[in-house]
Amino acid sequence: MPRQMNFSELHWLLAVVQSIDVGIVVLDLECRVQVWNSFMENRSGVASKQAIDRSFFELFPEVEKPWFTRKVGRVVALGTPAFTIWKQRPYLVHFKNYQPITGQGEFMYQNTTLLPLRSANSEIDHVCLVIYDLTDVAINSLALQKANNQMQQLSRTDHLTQLYNRGHWEQRLQFEYAHHDNAIALLMLDIDHFKSINDRYGHQAGDAVIKCLSQLIHQHLRDSDVAGRYGGEEFAIVLPRTDLGGARTLAERLRQSVQNQQVLHNGQTIAFTISLGIACLDHTARDHRCLIERADQALYASKRAGRNRVSTYAA
Ligand code: GH3
Ligand code: MG
Ligand code: MG
Repeated sequence: MPRQMNFSELHWLLAVVQSIDVGIVVLDLECRVQVWNSFMENRSGVASKQAIDRSFFELFPEVEKPWFTRKVGRVVALGTPAFTIWKQRPYLVHFKNYQPITGQGEFMYQNTTLLPLRSANSEIDHVCLVIYDLTDVAINSLALQKANNQMQQLSRTDHLTQLYNRGHWEQRLQFEYAHHDNAIALLMLDIDHFKSINDRYGHQAGDAVIKCLSQLIHQHLRDSDVAGRYGGEEFAIVLPRTDLGGARTLAERLRQSVQNQQVLHNGQTIAFTISLGIACLDHTARDHRCLIERADQALYASKRAGRNRVSTYAA
């Protein structure tokens, strides 16, 4: 038989509930507030006197009533706690974030627990809502996630052109190849006589030409197309759901726009051209590398035939 708590123990317990750095709200079965600790007073700006006997939903209109009522109902019926986690639901009640150090995040991220409370006759007739401030954890975790995303983005991107680098581009080709429903075309292109552009205007001018080409490529692509820098001045583009006709049209448009473009570098005007090769997926293509080899062969056919042209792989 548990002994009865004496008055001073009860007094200490109340002091603990008051000073603890979590929100504590006791609700009756109609979700009327019965206990409201000082964390709740400080964060909500509502004094305990004003909160007691008021509806939880009146105090926090942001809480969806049907959802929360169901949750309370389950806690009471099953006699087991329920939780909310900031990763799924950033907050239950909207409190401003007052943490000066973090300075980020406009609201308090929260984990919450709903506990069943039994009265003397052992019936569950109240629930205790505990609100934990997870703002620090959430902000650090979100910042880390953002940094990871940026790192991943950087590791995929070619610095000069902002297109995918070869490694990532090949992964994407492999993915498109594995998931294709019908057509895929592959376009490879290389700047003509690029060595002489470098020799004549300098390496920096050569870089400017590469950049200009990557911008033109960017302008001509659809969202689903995947362009990468395959080598120094060689580019490759995956065209999902594109047949030979579509690929030829794009290649020809790109070839012409390059031919019509001039690059201004240090007061000099540089004109350049590209050669292109196309390969389309057919039943004889064994894997994604086979597509690369074929597009490359078509590209070199364009070079041999005099450059500044589009060729298609023919078996
Ligand atoms: P072709 O018409 O046959 O393609 O002739 P090409 O002169 O373009 O021949 P090739 O493709 O072999 O030459 C590529 C040159 O591009 C060699 C290399 O010095 C230069 N290059 C590679 N990467 C870069 C780069 O990032 N910037 C600059 N400026 N030059 C680069
Ligand atoms: Mg070249
Ligand atoms: Mg080359």
